[in-house]
Formats: sequence, C-alpha cells, structure tokens
Amino acid sequence: MKTDAILKIKQYLNTPQKIVIVPHKNPDGDAIGASLGLFHFLKTQEQNPVIIAPNDYPEFLKWMPGDSEILKYDTQTGICTQLINAATLIFTLDFNALDRAGDMAPLLDASKAIKIMIDHHQQPDTYATFMYSDVSMSSTCEMVFNFIDMLAGKQHITADIATCLYTGIMTDTGSFRFASTTSQTHRVIAFLMDQGAQNSAIHNAVMDANSYNRMQLLGQALTNLKLLPEFNTAYITLTQEELNKHHFQKGDTEGFVNYALSLKNVIFAAIFIEDKPNNIIKISLRSKGDFSVNALARTHFNGGGHTNAAGGKSELNLSETVEKFISILPAYKDALQND
Ligand code: 5GP
Ligand code: MN
Repeated sequence: MKTDAILKIKQYLNTPQKIVIVPHKNPDGDAIGASLGLFHFLKTQEQNPVIIAPNDYPEFLKWMPGDSEILKYDTQTGICTQLINAATLIFTLDFNALDRAGDMAPLLDASKAIKIMIDHHQQPDTYATFMYSDVSMSSTCEMVFNFIDMLAGKQHITADIATCLYTGIMTDTGSFRFASTTSQTHRVIAFLMDQGAQNSAIHNAVMDANSYNRMQLLGQALTNLKLLPEFNTAYITLTQEELNKHHFQKGDTEGFVNYALSLKNVIFAAIFIEDKPNNIIKISLRSKGDFSVNALARTHFNGGGHTNAAGGKSELNLSETVEKFISILPAYKDALQND
C-alpha cells in the first residue's frame, strides 16, 4: 500500500468512524481470522467496528475470540442493512469482487463509505477507495498483519489478534505447506506466536474437531475418487443423496479435494458437490505448479480464485458437469504433463 494511502487511513482512524468489516460469502478460516484480527486491532485504536458475514460458516471456525459478535446478513438482514447504510468505512476482506459478498453486494455497491480492500485473489475489481491487493501473499491474514504494521500498530497485537491471524494463515497455507508460504510468512507466524498465538491448540481446534459423520462422508468421497492418469488429474463427486446419508453440515467437505491432489503424479484435482436446494454443482479445483485453476475456473465454471486453488459452479447436473470437465481436459493436455 502506498504511503499516502496509509496516511489517509491513519487520519480516518484518528476520529471515530462507523466501521463495517465484511468477509466473503461462505467464509473460510482466512476470511474469519482476518475479520476478527482486524476487528480486535481496531478496538485497540478506540474504534467500535462490527463484522457482517454474508452467511454462516463451519463450526470448526467458531471458537475464535470475538466470534459471537459476528453478525450474519442472511439471518439478521434488518440490523445489517442499517449498519451498512450508516457506515463511514467498510473493509472488504479476502475477496476481489463485490459479488463474492452474495446478497450483500448491492448494499456495499450503493454505500458511500470509504472502502478498503485487503485481499490476495487474482484480477481484483476496482470498487475500493483504497486497495491492498497482493496475489503473492499466503493469506489475507498475513496482509492484515502487514496492514497493522504499516499503521505502526504491531505493538498493539494482543493474544486475541495473534490467535485469529495465525488461524487464517494456517488454514490458507494448508499448515504452512502450500507454495504461497514464504520465509516472511514464517516470520509473521513467529511474531504471532510470541504475542500469544498457541500453535498446537489452534491446530487442535481447527483440525481435530471432526464429527463421525464427516469421517464417514470422507470415506464415501474417497470411494468415489476417480483417476485420469493420462491427464495427471483426479476428481471426486458427492451427490446430494450421499451428503444427506451422512448428515452433511456446512464445512464437512472442506479439504476433501486435497486427497485427490495427494495422489502421486496428480497435479490437477477437482471435487464436484451436488447442491440440490440451489440447483447447482459446487466445484473446488486445486493444482500443483504452474497449472492455473483460476484461469480454468474463470473460463469454464463461472468462478475464480488463485493459481493453485479456485472454485466455481455449474448449472448442469452432476454427470453432465463431470462430462464437461472430462471433455475440456484434452485442451490442457500439454499443461498437465509432469516435468
Ligand atoms: P474453495 O474451493 O476452497 O471453495 O475455494 C478456493 C478458492 O477459490 C478461494 O480462494 C475462493 O475464494 C475461490 N472461489 C471458490 N469458489 C469461487 C467462485 O464461485 N467464484 C470465485 N470467483 N472464486 C471462488
Ligand atoms: Mn484467503
């Protein structure tokens, strides 16, 4: 972020603002961690922000300090609408286009508030007054840390802030293993641990909170796993019936796609999840190396994301969606070869 932008933001924060913090729809650990980390930080700056999530998120993210204060737009629309309309400063975290805020998008678009984007997704839109966008970053949480640092606020990072930011960096880097993890990411993590983030307790809270049903659903997903060796590609499907049988809860399928990517030689993995209530197939894509699932998701599945992690959706039925997926692979055959 440019120095003059930081100076202006500092100036705004010197007087009481009506601040709304917004993570993306179906928020993940990075979106919630960044929102809560920034929320706690702004409180140290004599501000009284609110977080409005477009909708609910999985149980394994609900232990973070401050969680109970997060409002949900889809079930608390009235109060959320008032807060957005009255806002003077809106932070949008971990997303690059207003439509990623779901039904809140028109309200955000219409708001006259100063908007600050902090995000690491590719090809960001230009709705924000101030943009801190960096696709090389491991996570929005690492960027919130940098943002606090740019505001000269590092000494205000409490154990609560550190815990929330640690959580998002951890979840978005697959526990510090994805290519986006840098030595600087580890330096930030070290700082957060020094401020009181408890690495083992945080891992336990996020990773070891599985329900029996989720494990059974994973068993079904692995049974459905298909390998296409010619394209070094693997994919998983889950039907609505299979989800129902294992009492699917929000977040249960998080990370399943990584099992497909963990197969030897596989560099492209997908999961197709039937969503009968919304009449769509939700798609998650993952890759290794240079193969851009962001580009593929944008071109074929009405989505986007990062080079190695993206998502999208399909309005065809499940088998038609898989057929479409298989039919586009030959066009990518060269890009899908291992070196
Ligand atoms: P996931 O597969 O875990 O849902 O998402 C992986 C990445 O792709 C995330 O960074 C997420 O923001 C992005 N993503 C997932 N679904 C969509 C989508 O429908 N549209 C866009 N633009 N990005 C998505
Ligand atoms: Mn993120």
